[in-house]
Amino acid sequence: MSDYLIRGMAEGGFIRAFAATSKELVQQAVEIHHLSPVAAAALGRTLTAGTIMGSMMKNEKDVLTIIFNGDGPIGGITVTADAAGHVKGYVKNPDVMLPPSAKGKLDVGGAVGHGLLRVIRDTGLKEPYVGETAIITGEIAEDLTAYYLESEQIPSAMGLGVLMNHDNTVREAGGFMIQLMPFAPDDVIDRLEERLSKMTSVTELLKNGGTPESILGDILEGMDFELLDTIPISYHCDCTRSRVTKALIAIGSGEIEDMIREGKPVSLGCQFCGKNYEFNVDDLKVILEAAKG
Ligand code: ZN
Repeated sequence: MSDYLIRGMAEGGFIRAFAATSKELVQQAVEIHHLSPVAAAALGRTLTAGTIMGSMMKNEKDVLTIIFNGDGPIGGITVTADAAGHVKGYVKNPDVMLPPSAKGKLDVGGAVGHGLLRVIRDTGLKEPYVGETAIITGEIAEDLTAYYLESEQIPSAMGLGVLMNHDNTVREAGGFMIQLMPFAPDDVIDRLEERLSKMTSVTELLKNGGTPESILGDILEGMDFELLDTIPISYHCDCTRSRVTKALIAIGSGEIEDMIREGKPVSLGCQFCGKNYEFNVDDLKVILEAAKG
């Protein structure tokens, strides 16, 4: 098991804690989408957050989607995760290049820009739960923390990190999230804040051999931590020909008629995994009937 996340609680359940190592799945995203270093950091952080936030859902079929819709040159980030550790995602402009930030780091905030962060939780009900907040810094972790506070009234701390090698492979990736449950006593809050204020960045911890266990151990030092779960996490796309067909039907009969008139097969790629689905003219005719249906 290479990538995994751990989940636990501390101080009798007043603190919920998560940490993940996600190097392999971020590397897979880099290869699928040919991500530039800053795009790898932006999508890698969001994918890691997706595995953590996805693991908080109750049912196997629940789906969580995180959308960063900012005005920066990356043009938007979409990540989808389930409760079982599967995650996938894409950015609109994977080849975005930016000079390093003032701190000499990959400028994820500059790539994302300002705009809206949307979190959608589809639990099979008629209407999915949608929460929306303004993007604060575009650095992903700060924005998701603000989302939890504003939209769900849960005080949280989150750290996400992706460290790239010079050959554009992923050296380290991972993250953590700590959440305070309602009615947490002041002394628990104070101790946690003190620990968090002393923390270095996730990237720094991972670079020095940090693991999900050691990261949470660091943050929750001196507290009674109880490990609840260890979950393998991976990049996984569940696209199928029938789903792509449904998307084609939704385009509408006019456009499908145009495609048939062209007389050539149409190739549609999955945005999440790049897999191509071919439809020949006969396939398109069947799809046209369904669209007219
Ligand atoms: Zn796919």
